[in-house]
Amino acid sequence: MTVPLHKPLAPDATIGILGGGQLGRMLALAAHELGFRVHVYSDKKDSCAFDVVKNSTCAPFDNWARLADFLNHVDAVTYEFENIPAETAAFVAARKPLFPGVGVLATTQDRVTEKQFVNSLKIATAPFAPVKTSMELSAAFARIGMPAILKTARLGYDGKGQVKLEKGDDLASAWRSIGETPAVLEGFVKFEREISVVIARGIDGKTVAYEPIENVHRDHILHTSTVPAKIPPALAKEAIAIATKIAKALNYVGVLAVEMFVAKKGAKRELLVNEIAPRVHNSGHWTIDGASASQFEQHIRAIAGWPLNSVKRVGKSVTMTNLIGDEVLGWDKLAKEAGASVHLYGKGAAKAGRKMGHVTRVKL
Ligand code: AMP
Repeated sequence: MTVPLHKPLAPDATIGILGGGQLGRMLALAAHELGFRVHVYSDKKDSCAFDVVKNSTCAPFDNWARLADFLNHVDAVTYEFENIPAETAAFVAARKPLFPGVGVLATTQDRVTEKQFVNSLKIATAPFAPVKTSMELSAAFARIGMPAILKTARLGYDGKGQVKLEKGDDLASAWRSIGETPAVLEGFVKFEREISVVIARGIDGKTVAYEPIENVHRDHILHTSTVPAKIPPALAKEAIAIATKIAKALNYVGVLAVEMFVAKKGAKRELLVNEIAPRVHNSGHWTIDGASASQFEQHIRAIAGWPLNSVKRVGKSVTMTNLIGDEVLGWDKLAKEAGASVHLYGKGAAKAGRKMGHVTRVKL
């Protein structure tokens, strides 16, 4: 059973957010701007979203008594990360409106299920093969060829749980390196560039999509996102059509990001979907300073049953650069840069590979 939202939430209603990282923090800030109260539930003591809300709960996601108490204090619930345990999502959805819904998590928490879902919509992905045992890895390798990437089916992010395989590499050690856990072997795509589409879908089924965003990764972690992406208008339209089809097929409510590769196919270009993120996305952070409404505002509007706002870019181009690990120590220099919008997440000590903040530059 899932509880529906019968009418739009009025200001002063309380939105519950599962997860307390920077995405939860920026969602909470956007919710406050629309007059909502926010209650963050996270299992991590040092959650940076706790700092910006009055009400928070720090408890494991399977502490049913604490979860029930949290649910007594909120009017609708959303999440800032997709690895919410299935039992937790079901427990929440049976008691309060949960957006995006439980079915979305079931589809997107597993790379194999997600890719099969994407292909079922006649949308292309890199060639892939599910792998459950080391024997299956050899068979998958024979089918997919090299180079390839072996990724854990679940719980991978920012390049964690992934290993690239070149010709001659030892399959057994690759299998061990990802923890001998169910996985997917993907053909390595020699992409021209990477893009994403951040799209919002309201309870009424209406969608608004930001223009495609061009993304550059460093060490598997997003480094910069730029709009407009350097792709022809027809391809941009196709990318938005793909994201719209996915959002509709998932009966999605909220903000969704679809990551895609732009690859050459003969004289033409094709789009291959790499990943669906059922939440606000790092590549959409530029929208806080560079668009008429941010992805965080759109997400809160959608889950509150409000109409969506417009998605127009301000300025000729916008670039968002992540501040990873020690890069955040340059905050004082960035603070002096005219026109640079600095966003720091209040995470304390800078750890290698940790997203500590971002800076957005709008070219007018
Ligand atoms: P993912 O965790 O699937 O989002 O992958 C992280 C990054 O690794 C992507 O953004 C790409 O830069 C790279 N990558 C992932 N899968 C592939 C692939 N099949 N071919 C080429 N590069 C990939």
